[in-house]
Amino acid sequence: MKCMICEQKCEIPLQGTGRCGMMTADARGIREQFPDRYLAAVDTAIESMPMVHYHPKGTFLQVCTVGCNFTCPGCVSEIITDHLGAIRGQFQEMTPEQVIDRAEQTSARGVMFCFNEPTVSFFTFMRLARMAKERGLLAGCATNGYMTEWAMSKITPFLDFVNIGIKGTSPEVCAACGIRDTNPIFRNIRLFHQKGIHVEISAVYKKGREDEIEQTARFIASLSRQIPFQVMRFMPFGNSDLDDEPRVMAAEALCRRLGQHLDHVFLFNTPGTGFLNSTCPECGQVIMARGFFGPMCANLYKYQSKGRCSCGYQLPLKGKIHEKTRSRLSGYFGGYRTVNAMSMIRAILGVLGVKDKAVADTVMADAVRSDLIDGLYARLNRIDAYFDTVDTFADVTETRARAAFFREYVGEKVRQIREQTRGVPKPRVYYCLGHPLIAMFGEKMESCLARTAGGDLTNQMARKESRPGITIDPREFGHMAPQIIVVADTLAWPPADVIAWCKNNSLSAPAIREEKIFGLHPFRSSTNPDWILGLMALANIIHPSIFKFDLKKEADTFYNTFYGHPFNNGRLPAFPWEEKQ
Ligand code: SF4
Repeated sequence: MKCMICEQKCEIPLQGTGRCGMMTADARGIREQFPDRYLAAVDTAIESMPMVHYHPKGTFLQVCTVGCNFTCPGCVSEIITDHLGAIRGQFQEMTPEQVIDRAEQTSARGVMFCFNEPTVSFFTFMRLARMAKERGLLAGCATNGYMTEWAMSKITPFLDFVNIGIKGTSPEVCAACGIRDTNPIFRNIRLFHQKGIHVEISAVYKKGREDEIEQTARFIASLSRQIPFQVMRFMPFGNSDLDDEPRVMAAEALCRRLGQHLDHVFLFNTPGTGFLNSTCPECGQVIMARGFFGPMCANLYKYQSKGRCSCGYQLPLKGKIHEKTRSRLSGYFGGYRTVNAMSMIRAILGVLGVKDKAVADTVMADAVRSDLIDGLYARLNRIDAYFDTVDTFADVTETRARAAFFREYVGEKVRQIREQTRGVPKPRVYYCLGHPLIAMFGEKMESCLARTAGGDLTNQMARKESRPGITIDPREFGHMAPQIIVVADTLAWPPADVIAWCKNNSLSAPAIREEKIFGLHPFRSSTNPDWILGLMALANIIHPSIFKFDLKKEADTFYNTFYGHPFNNGRLPAFPWEEKQ
C-alpha cells in the first residue's frame, strides 16, 4: 500500500512500517502506529521553535512525537531514532481536546509541532491543528516541507505559521538525507506563502556549502524580501563530521552577503553574534535584540515599541509582541535535554561494554522515566560524582568490573595531574563558550577540569548570568586579565579569530598579547567519558613545563581500551558496538 503523506511515497506491506517507522498499513489503509501519542507537550516561548517575527515572546504549547522521514547525518534527534524502543514507552496519550485544554490552561496562544517532523504523525497533527482552529487558537509547525500536494491540501487550511528547514540543495545533501531532490520543498514553500501562512525559513549552513544557502536565499527573495531567513550554523551532533562546522566569522560574512537579497537574515547556534537581532533595513538600528538560548533557539530580551524603528520603519511582524512569556518548562516527556542525556548515557554504556541494544534501550527508558535525568547533569559535572554515576549504570547492567576498571584507569591520570600541580603557581585561565565574551559556567565539567589541570579559573568573577553561558562585559574581561584563554567549542572560533575579535573590540589581556588562546579540538572536556583526554589536553596547555601528554597516543589507547577501535576525532558509531556485531 502506498503512503501518500510525504514525497517518499513508501510502499508499505501489510503490518509493516514505512521509512519513518511511524506509519503502518492494515486492511483499512495507511494509519499511524501511535496516534494521539506525544513525547512532549510543554508551554514555551515561540522563539524556541524558532520563530522571530510571529507573535514574538508569545507562549505556545510545543508538542512533538518522534521520528523523521529524512535521514540527515548529524541530526540532533538521531539518538531518539536509534533508540526508538527506549523512547516509545514515554509516549503520553492525549486526545486533541486534552492537548488544547492544556494549551488553554497555560494561556498559550496556540500549539506548535516542532522538534521532530510533524509529517510522520500527520493525522495526529491534523486533528490537533483542526481542534486548535475550532477553539480559536493558532497552529503551526517546524517541518522539512517534504509533504505531498495531497497532504498539503489537507493540512494548510488549519495552519497559521510554519518554519521550513532546508538541509541543503545539492545532490549529495539530498542523498545523505535520503530524498530525491528539493523540488517538492520549494514547491511547498511557495504554496504556504501563497496561502497567507506566515513563513520563516531555517537553512542549515555547513562549511563549504555557502552556494546552497545563497541559492535558497535567492529563491525565498523571489517570493518576498521580508520572509525571515534563519541561517542555522551547523553544530556537529551525533555521528556528524566535526569539520563541517563553519567558523563564526565565515557565517557572519555569509549573512552580510544574504542581506543583499533579503531584509531579515538571522544567524543561530552562534553565541554573541549580532545577527540574531532584527535590524532596521533602512537605518541599521537594532529593533529587536535577541540572545543565544541553546541550539536552534533565541531569547528576545529588548525591543523598540511594537517593533517599529525610531526611523519609522515597521518590522513585518505577525501578531503583537507579548510582554512576558509564560513558560513552566514542565510537562516534558522529552526534548533536547532528553536527547543530550541519552547521548551521555549511551557513551557511558559503551565504556561499560554493554553490547546488547535491548539492555541499553531499557536503561535509557528507565532513565527517561525516572527523575534520573534531572540530576544527571549536576552529577556528571564533578569527577568523583562522575565515577559514582558510572557505578550506578554498572549496577543495573551488571558490569561492575568494567566500572571499577574505568575508575582505576581514569582515576590514575587524574591523581597524576592533581599530584603534579599541587603547590605549583596557578595561571589565570578564562574558559569561554566560543565567543570571547560568553563565559563558561563555573559549575560545568569544563570548568572543573580546567581547575583540576591546575588553572586559576577566572570565570567565577563573572556576575551576570544567562543561559547557556554567562555574558560578560569588556570591563569584567579586563578585571579577569586571563593569562590563558581556552575556547570551548570545536572549530567555530579558531584562536586566530578570537585574537582578531579581541583586538578589533579593544579587549586586552596577557593571553591576547602573548597569543595564548587554545582550543581543545578534537579532544573533549564535557560529560562524555572521554573527558579525561580533555583534562590531559588542558594540563598540557596550562602547565606545559610539567605535562607533555602524547594526546594522540592517549586517545587511541583510551578508545581501543573502552570502545574497541582507535580514536576517530571522538566519533562514536550510532551504537558504539554496531560495527562489530
Ligand atoms: S510519512 Fe513515513 S511512511 Fe509515509 S511516505 Fe513519508 S516516510 Fe513513508
